[in-house]
Amino acid sequence: MTTAHITYWVVTLLLFGALFVLARNLKMKLWARVLIGLGLGGVMGFVFGGGAAGCAESAGCVPVSTKFLGDAFVRLIRMLIVPLIFTTLTAGVIAMGDPKRLGSLGARTIGMYMGTTIIAVSLGLLFGTLFQPGVGVDLSTVDLSSIDSVKGIIATGDAAGGIVDRLLAIIPENPVAALATTNVLAIIFWAILFGTGILLAGDAAKPVAKVIEASAEAVLKVTEIIMEVAPYGVYALMAWVISTQGLDILVNLGKLTLALYLACFLHIIITYGSIIKFINKLPVKRFFGGIVDAQAVAYSTDSSNATLPVTIANVTDNLGVDKSVSGSVLPLGATINMDGTAIYLGLVALFASQALDIPLDATHYFMIALTATLASIGAAGIPSAGLLLAATVLSVFGVTAEQSVLIIALIFPFDRLLDMMRTVTNVSGDAAVAVTVAKWEGALDEEVFKAKPVA
Ligand code: ASP
Repeated sequence: MTTAHITYWVVTLLLFGALFVLARNLKMKLWARVLIGLGLGGVMGFVFGGGAAGCAESAGCVPVSTKFLGDAFVRLIRMLIVPLIFTTLTAGVIAMGDPKRLGSLGARTIGMYMGTTIIAVSLGLLFGTLFQPGVGVDLSTVDLSSIDSVKGIIATGDAAGGIVDRLLAIIPENPVAALATTNVLAIIFWAILFGTGILLAGDAAKPVAKVIEASAEAVLKVTEIIMEVAPYGVYALMAWVISTQGLDILVNLGKLTLALYLACFLHIIITYGSIIKFINKLPVKRFFGGIVDAQAVAYSTDSSNATLPVTIANVTDNLGVDKSVSGSVLPLGATINMDGTAIYLGLVALFASQALDIPLDATHYFMIALTATLASIGAAGIPSAGLLLAATVLSVFGVTAEQSVLIIALIFPFDRLLDMMRTVTNVSGDAAVAVTVAKWEGALDEEVFKAKPVA
């Protein structure tokens, strides 16, 4: 324990006390407290960490000492994933009342997810062309020590099997095992079928339907309880990220970072904003106001999967999307809809072509867009998943395996800050699509959407 540790902890506890007072006595809204936690954590991480250089993840790096609070928060929300997807999705199918509705819901959802991802990937390619992030990058600076771990991770990714195996894995041989291993797609598959079975069984299955509907309500309440600690968890995560990442990334990969943040920001504001305004004819400000918690949690946890419970709670409670839609569209989105990842993969492809001096023609652009879209669908909603899929995208324009390891190893140590922004984009996209599909399906309570949030 150094003096710096003691000072850091005293200040942290005082800040936590202040956050508590804001909640308890001043009744400040959760989203505002989460944002304050995010900002304070970042500042404290910077001040008590290694400054711009960042510090090694060791006991000497003071803000690392609160990381366990962030980890506890992530565990708490991850704990909700399985019960929440299973109960809300099954309850959602039951609430639809007619299994035939699943067809139109599914088609609309997948159509919207694909459409927004294609826009995203185009934006990534456009920004990669405008910003030229790879020009002048010196590949000889790559930290060779991280290459082995990158190779290892890419190899494990490959071992996960080809596309056919992955598709087959969506059908769980044992639904209980799927639940036990958090196999999201397999849980979705089983929940939809189970809900359909409950509907078809009619009166005989009413008791099960009641139990599941009641459980879904209860799990959503648990989510609300856990969200109360979000400001503290987000604080601890941000302090850790900012202290250990340092801001060196701005020097090494500055243009890539800038291009990604800007492209993601524009995609969120313009693409999703337009979807809400022009397709749904709803107030854009309310949409973004309603999902601030999910965005802040996505930014600090770096995982759409971990954020899923918060996204479901936000979209259901604040935006008035019926549980039948939020419970089905959002888990699917957290798994297959990753616009931020698609933007990123397009950008990394151009980054690599510029850094390695490989000229691209129109066919290459098309192939990059196609593989980036598919890779973003295949990426898991977990930290750094997107980067590890970059090798697939790079291979379509002649980047060798060795070269792609080099590119990935160059970005890998700094990927966290990039990943945070793409995760926010991924989660915001899921929410925008959920609202739209709900509107089309007549499952959107516009009164709730437009209502001023209660203080
Ligand atoms: N971390 C991202 C997510 O969970 C995926 C990625 O690495 O792009 O949404």
